[in-house]
Amino acid sequence: SKGGPKRLLIMMSNTGGGHKASAEAIRDAFREKHGDEYQIDIVDMWKDYTPWPFNKIPDTYSFLVKHSILWRMSYEMTQPKWFHVPYLAFVGVFMRSGMHRAFDKYQPDSVVSVHPLMQHVPLGVLKQRIHSGAMKPVNFSTVVTDFTTCHNTWFHTSATRCFVPTEECRGLARQNGLVDKQLIQRGLPIRPLFARGLPNRRAMRRRLGLDPGLPAILLVGGGEGMGALEATVSKLGQELGPIAQVVVICGRNKRLFDKLSTSPPPGGMPVKATGFVNNIHEWMGACDCIITKAGPGTIAEALISGLPILLNGNVPCQEEGNIPFVIQNGVGTFETDPAKIASIIRSWVSGHPEEQEAFAKMAQRSKELGRPKAVYEIMEDLKQLTDEPDFEFGPARAALRTQLATSKSS
Ligand code: UDP
Repeated sequence: SKGGPKRLLIMMSNTGGGHKASAEAIRDAFREKHGDEYQIDIVDMWKDYTPWPFNKIPDTYSFLVKHSILWRMSYEMTQPKWFHVPYLAFVGVFMRSGMHRAFDKYQPDSVVSVHPLMQHVPLGVLKQRIHSGAMKPVNFSTVVTDFTTCHNTWFHTSATRCFVPTEECRGLARQNGLVDKQLIQRGLPIRPLFARGLPNRRAMRRRLGLDPGLPAILLVGGGEGMGALEATVSKLGQELGPIAQVVVICGRNKRLFDKLSTSPPPGGMPVKATGFVNNIHEWMGACDCIITKAGPGTIAEALISGLPILLNGNVPCQEEGNIPFVIQNGVGTFETDPAKIASIIRSWVSGHPEEQEAFAKMAQRSKELGRPKAVYEIMEDLKQLTDEPDFEFGPARAALRTQLATSKSS
């Protein structure tokens, strides 16, 4: 593609909302800073480039995470290399032709993965294409979108770079054989909207039609709609009455939305329910704390917004590490019981002076831990890897090794 924009292919799969959100965040940062110098193609490799029945695997994800024992088995079983390498090689037999089609179609100058299952197969195909001359040498980068409990399939030694958000994640990358020169530690790539800053919370409450003077609690029940949300709202109503208000983001949970819209809890606590929103940064900017499941994207966004976090559930396995991450950093806590959640929230927004002081400290630490600029830093790193590919690591080097070996032997 001489003369035209440089092209980055971001491979993701829509298991949960976070991977797609990360891919879009990187794309938006490119657009904002570099306009149409770069064309970013985001492709759902499983759904759009994998034949049946393998393209149905991501759909089983929501089912599996709801039946945690099944998810835990699949997750743990695939952790060791001796299992997932041959397993992905097998799946790769069926995915390979789709991968070739995607690379032919998008002609990437650089390839990026934001999904734990998008290393082994694409890297194998890239090595082969570069080796055969079907494709010029390009870099391959993995952007890990989990904080601390990251599955081993995130880490592949043939990746040019691996972006890790935390020290823990760096440690896992090292354990999996990546060296420090391959690792870049930034943070999670969160939508640039979060980096822009907003008017203060009172002004934001007014803007969103909330009572500007009342403390506001954000309850996110989006995505897979986890947690006992109805019960939580009702307990909050009992505990707080008219001294606070609650915003409930129901996401795709239509039933919850209808229920809350038609019958608010007794006791006079104002409740504002919404479906899926595209301005969650504004709602976070308007509220004083958040109740959410332990999704890495939502946690990172809450940190940027300076919110204390009450985690009320988690996807088994990959989100488990987010609980100690929140607690040990002093930015929140974990509780699943609606009555206990309500009493914690009361202590946060209307407790004794020392409780309120602790709450203010949590908010401050949260803000300090937030990484609004990470997405721009990651974008600039990816830009550089596209403009001046680094062949010390990555699929091109692996392909070159094969080339040298074959030329020596012939
Ligand atoms: N989200 C949103 N609007 C909503 C509900 C959720 O934009 O109404 C976004 C949320 O801000 C976050 C993502 O969906 O960026 C969820 O990602 P997370 O990593 O928290 O959890 P996942 O869904 O991947 O398990």
